[in-house]
Amino acid sequence: MLPFARLTIIGLGLIGSSVARAVRAQMPSVRIIGHDADPVVRARSVALGIYDDVTDTAGASVIDADLVILCVPVGAMGSVAAEFAADLPADAIVSDVGSCKQSVVDALTAVLPTATIIPAHPVAGTEKSGPDAGFSTLFKGRWCILTPPEHAPEAAVERLRSFWQQLGADVEIMDARHHDMVLAVTSHLPHLIAYTIVGTADDLEGVTQSEVIKYSAGGFRDFTRIAASDPVMWRDVFLSNKDAVLEMLQRFSEDLSVLQRAIRYDKGDELEALFARTRNIRRSIVEQGQDDDAPDFGRKH
Ligand code: NAP
Repeated sequence: MLPFARLTIIGLGLIGSSVARAVRAQMPSVRIIGHDADPVVRARSVALGIYDDVTDTAGASVIDADLVILCVPVGAMGSVAAEFAADLPADAIVSDVGSCKQSVVDALTAVLPTATIIPAHPVAGTEKSGPDAGFSTLFKGRWCILTPPEHAPEAAVERLRSFWQQLGADVEIMDARHHDMVLAVTSHLPHLIAYTIVGTADDLEGVTQSEVIKYSAGGFRDFTRIAASDPVMWRDVFLSNKDAVLEMLQRFSEDLSVLQRAIRYDKGDELEALFARTRNIRRSIVEQGQDDDAPDFGRKH
């Protein structure tokens, strides 16, 4: 059974267009209306032919929606909701795909105080952005975390759970603050580290840029994939999940100092024990189907 019949997607980039493509593939009779602030993205979205209609305003896109999913950067969620608030049907469910959740639920609740808001975060993506970067299988076998506010209607949560399951995702329910802490360590901190390492290498005076690129297979290039992620999206993630990221960064700095001491004082046993522990984490990720077991991420040699 279809959980929703009339879907509106606002923000037609990587995630928004992937949701649209996945719905087209899995629930072809659902009517999909799209809106994006960028006229170039709107024109491209029309040309891609995934949407039943692409509207010039956010208000026009929601007029008879039963589910509205906001796929814009987290810092834009509140202002987008304000644009369509007057046109939102009273029984529509409003959701999103933002990478942090407490700031989004706060922003949406402030602007849509009477709406049913069920935030969501599909833990799936790539370093690409824009309407051509999306694909219909992005959510298959990936987790989608729902963070319903305490008094959210159970039936609405179940409809959204069914929606994401039909797109191939496994659904987990979590408190918004807990989500932000978990994602700070599994996603936000790794991005911050990648941005730092790639920036540091770029700043080094004794090593030329051509050497950095030439010898990147030594590990550096794996960081560059993450560090190529969308600058606006990630600016918003760090500013919106400030507390959890700063807490994780503090712990990371302390752990880094421990490693620094181990290297300085030749404590090989300490280094080896940590590296053995981290290798096991990689094994568990592969065993749980969250990554491929191919050596070197399956690159051709
Ligand atoms: P994206 O490819 O850059 O797409 C975002 C789209 O939203 C862009 O076309 C952008 O237009 C548009 N937009 C920005 N502000 C808007 C506004 N006020 N009204 C209407 N449209 C607006 O980004 P994305 O990777 O799909 O990310 C979208 C959301 O998904 C973010 O909240 C992000 O945290 C979340 N997310 C991302 C990933 C990932 O791996 N990328 C994974 C999970 C969740 P412009 O061209 O004008 O910027």
